[in-house]
Amino acid sequence: MARIAVIGAGMGALAAAARLATGGHRVTVYERSATYGGGVSRYERDGFVFDTGPGLLHLPAVYRDLFIKTGRETLESCVSLRQVDPAIRHVFDDGTSVSLPNASRAGVIAALDDALGPGAGTRWADLLGRAREVWEATRRPLLEDALAADTAPLGRDPYPAPPVRRGLFRRGAPTLAEVAARELSDPRLAAMLEHYAVAYGFDPAIVPASATVLPYFEHTFGTWYVDGGMRALAEAVYARCVARRVDFRFGADVAEVVEKDGRAAGLLLVDGTRVEADTVVSGAPPAPVAPTAGGGGRVVICLALAGPRPDDAPHRTVIHAAGVTVLRPDDPSTRPDDAHEAVTLHVPLPLAGGTEAALRAAEAAVPGLRDRLLWHHVHPSSAPPGPALAGASGTFLLPPNPAPLPGLYRVGPWAHPGGTLPHTGMSAAIVADLIAGGPGGSR
Ligand SMILES: Cc1cc2nc3c(=O)[nH]c(=O)nc-3n(C[C@H](O)[C@H](O)[C@H](O)COP(=O)(O)OP(=O)(O)OC[C@H]3O[C@@H](n4cnc5c(N)ncnc54)[C@H](O)[C@@H]3O)c2cc1C
Repeated sequence: MARIAVIGAGMGALAAAARLATGGHRVTVYERSATYGGGVSRYERDGFVFDTGPGLLHLPAVYRDLFIKTGRETLESCVSLRQVDPAIRHVFDDGTSVSLPNASRAGVIAALDDALGPGAGTRWADLLGRAREVWEATRRPLLEDALAADTAPLGRDPYPAPPVRRGLFRRGAPTLAEVAARELSDPRLAAMLEHYAVAYGFDPAIVPASATVLPYFEHTFGTWYVDGGMRALAEAVYARCVARRVDFRFGADVAEVVEKDGRAAGLLLVDGTRVEADTVVSGAPPAPVAPTAGGGGRVVICLALAGPRPDDAPHRTVIHAAGVTVLRPDDPSTRPDDAHEAVTLHVPLPLAGGTEAALRAAEAAVPGLRDRLLWHHVHPSSAPPGPALAGASGTFLLPPNPAPLPGLYRVGPWAHPGGTLPHTGMSAAIVADLIAGGPGGSR
């Protein structure tokens, strides 16, 4: 049984702590803030409750696996998880809008044909068919397994050129923006594709075509919401850690990892406290964070509205002209009563035109929003890196989980396989397996 010190109590670190404690280790988490969950945080005021981090979950299988491997109670017995339908509504620059059903290929094709014209649905589905090849080629090396020592194969983009136009692409691997322009033949479909990159802070003009795997995740594995808000997922993972006797020290700011005899031997806290450990797992960001790895600034604007939430309001609407994502969870626990509504806006920085412009844009999703507004709260948020992607000569890979210093491992969005809730969950599975002497991975 080893003494393991974990830095940070973000989702990656919590998931690693639960797995390591289940493996019989003595695990202590040192978190600089007063609470757990990291970016999965919440803002509460006057009976309104808002997620100030992610508002939705994709690929819940990663957290199902965590709960199965760390105890008898399944994820579903600890949180109320449900699919969001429609999964997303897009409002395009020309005013056209389309609501896409959750995880239904036929439903998405029909909705796109209806809204954008015949053939639009098939073009989108064909593109996702090619993205499936990216998923098949990268699922193991980029999600489930530890990063291979030789990353050269991951520097090549597995996104296949469409057969009839293959000759056109021999000049080199296209970017996501090029794929959007060449294969979708409709600026609205192109905007839809590019949104999935922008949502993780990637620039579609730079990010490789393999980023088509991002909409593939959502369309294939569905879009999920945790009742009570996404913070309820952090609460459940924290509760699992406590049940597995993980020890938590909040308000414990780690200054550095202590090195002894060429390996990690503990932590030095900012207050001067020294902690001895056999192994250290860091869920804290390094500095500086590579700018090409996605992420980037955004603000989350919490809106307290008078008036009920209409039953048919989509959970998530993307207003493409402004880059604003509007979240309207159908969840009574987020509002004081049914005569009020809690709405969250995710707005990328720089915030052109300020909060007022974001509110005006959001009226495309919430008619009369500014008349209904009781108050708003702006929550600045620095989104972590996005998920690792193949292609672009490896620019979008994250550092491997074992750090150069023996005995030190990295979890969370700044390490392989990058950010998003499922990806950080996978980093925890990889690290727990490596520490247990395995090859790193969930199988
Ligand atoms: C606004 C926003 C929207 C997002 N939307 C989505 C989404 O739609 N889908 C999705 O999958 N993901 C989304 N994400 C990303 C997702 O939240 C993250 O990938 C994931 O939660 C971050 O992983 P983490 O918890 O390991 O890291 P973090 O949340 O960054 O946690 C790191 C923790 O370490 C602590 N820490 C840092 N340094 C130290 C130190 N020196 N000593 C002690 N403690 C330290 C911090 O206080 C923090 O608690 C979003 C994130 C944000 C911010």
